Amino acid sequence: MFPQNQWIKIKAPATVANMVCGFDILGFAVNNPYDEMEMRWMPRVNNEPSITIINIDDYNLPTDPEKNVAGAALLALIEEYEERINNNNTAHSLETKQQSVSAIKFEVKINKLIKPGSGVGSSAASSAGAVVGANHLLGNIFSKDDLVRFAMNGEKLASGVKHADNIAPCIFGGVTLVRSIFPLEIIALPSPQLYVTIVHPQIEVRTADARSILRQQVLLKDAIKQWGNIAGLVAGLMKSDYELIGRSLEDVIIEPVRSILIPGFDALKLACKQAGALGGGISGSGPSIFMLSKTKEIAVAVEKEMKQLYDGMGLPHHTYVTTINQAGVEIAA
Ligand code: ADP
Repeated sequence: MFPQNQWIKIKAPATVANMVCGFDILGFAVNNPYDEMEMRWMPRVNNEPSITIINIDDYNLPTDPEKNVAGAALLALIEEYEERINNNNTAHSLETKQQSVSAIKFEVKINKLIKPGSGVGSSAASSAGAVVGANHLLGNIFSKDDLVRFAMNGEKLASGVKHADNIAPCIFGGVTLVRSIFPLEIIALPSPQLYVTIVHPQIEVRTADARSILRQQVLLKDAIKQWGNIAGLVAGLMKSDYELIGRSLEDVIIEPVRSILIPGFDALKLACKQAGALGGGISGSGPSIFMLSKTKEIAVAVEKEMKQLYDGMGLPHHTYVTTINQAGVEIAA
């Protein structure tokens, strides 16, 4: 185990989920923005709380562990940790067992640089950052799949459902496919160098609204088109075939319905593609929009189009030009 009372620093990346045709299943991590966290552990005495959360940003997120996604994710991890330690059939080695402490407490400092509700995985960064940090402190006894399971409790708190499309890329890095949630099956996909341009218009799209307007039925012809695009996108990523990636970045089911919640969506997408973007769409449930490009020059030209359009509409916004983050959550002692 990591020495008690010593702080570690954690960098938890933003993530883009609902990767166009890959609604709920495909996502990727980006190098900017990211949250900063610090964590340390100590033995827990008697009935003192097992988690203390200290917010060092201005978002006023709850510090009650049951109401902060980092806390919800950590509570699931602690429960399984203590179960393992108290159980003779623990999955980890005798050496680890001898060093372990039966009741544990974590202190977590969170500095949010990813605005909550922006659609680029702010909640996932806190949940994933907390469990990856805790696992490091405990001597890496849990697998990445375990960590995704724990962190999904944070997503359940934020959105009402356990989903892993932001958590998986945040923990694994790169592009990930969530083939199944129950049982959990995550596949890390290779990808060629891709530049990512993100625009976050400063409007609020409630995740609940974005979900409630979705149609519950799809036409078979649309489903077939979507399957073709998902398979094409995965094949394009694996073969580093930029043209195939571009052709497959098309969503005929979700985007036509959801995009009405985002001002100027169609015009923005058209302008970005004319500037050379391979394609893109709504990030998460919005309001952020992302575009993928083959070169940095194109990604910067795409950013210019985004700014021009929203400046013209008088809509305040933030933009990022970044790349796919291959490392996922990172720890610096
Ligand atoms: P995003 O896609 O940016 O994560 P969500 O709407 O999915 O946005 O999640 C943000 C929600 O989760 C907000 O209601 C926020 O108050 C709540 N929340 C609780 N704890 C945290 C946290 N540590 N980080 C971010 N959001 C949190």
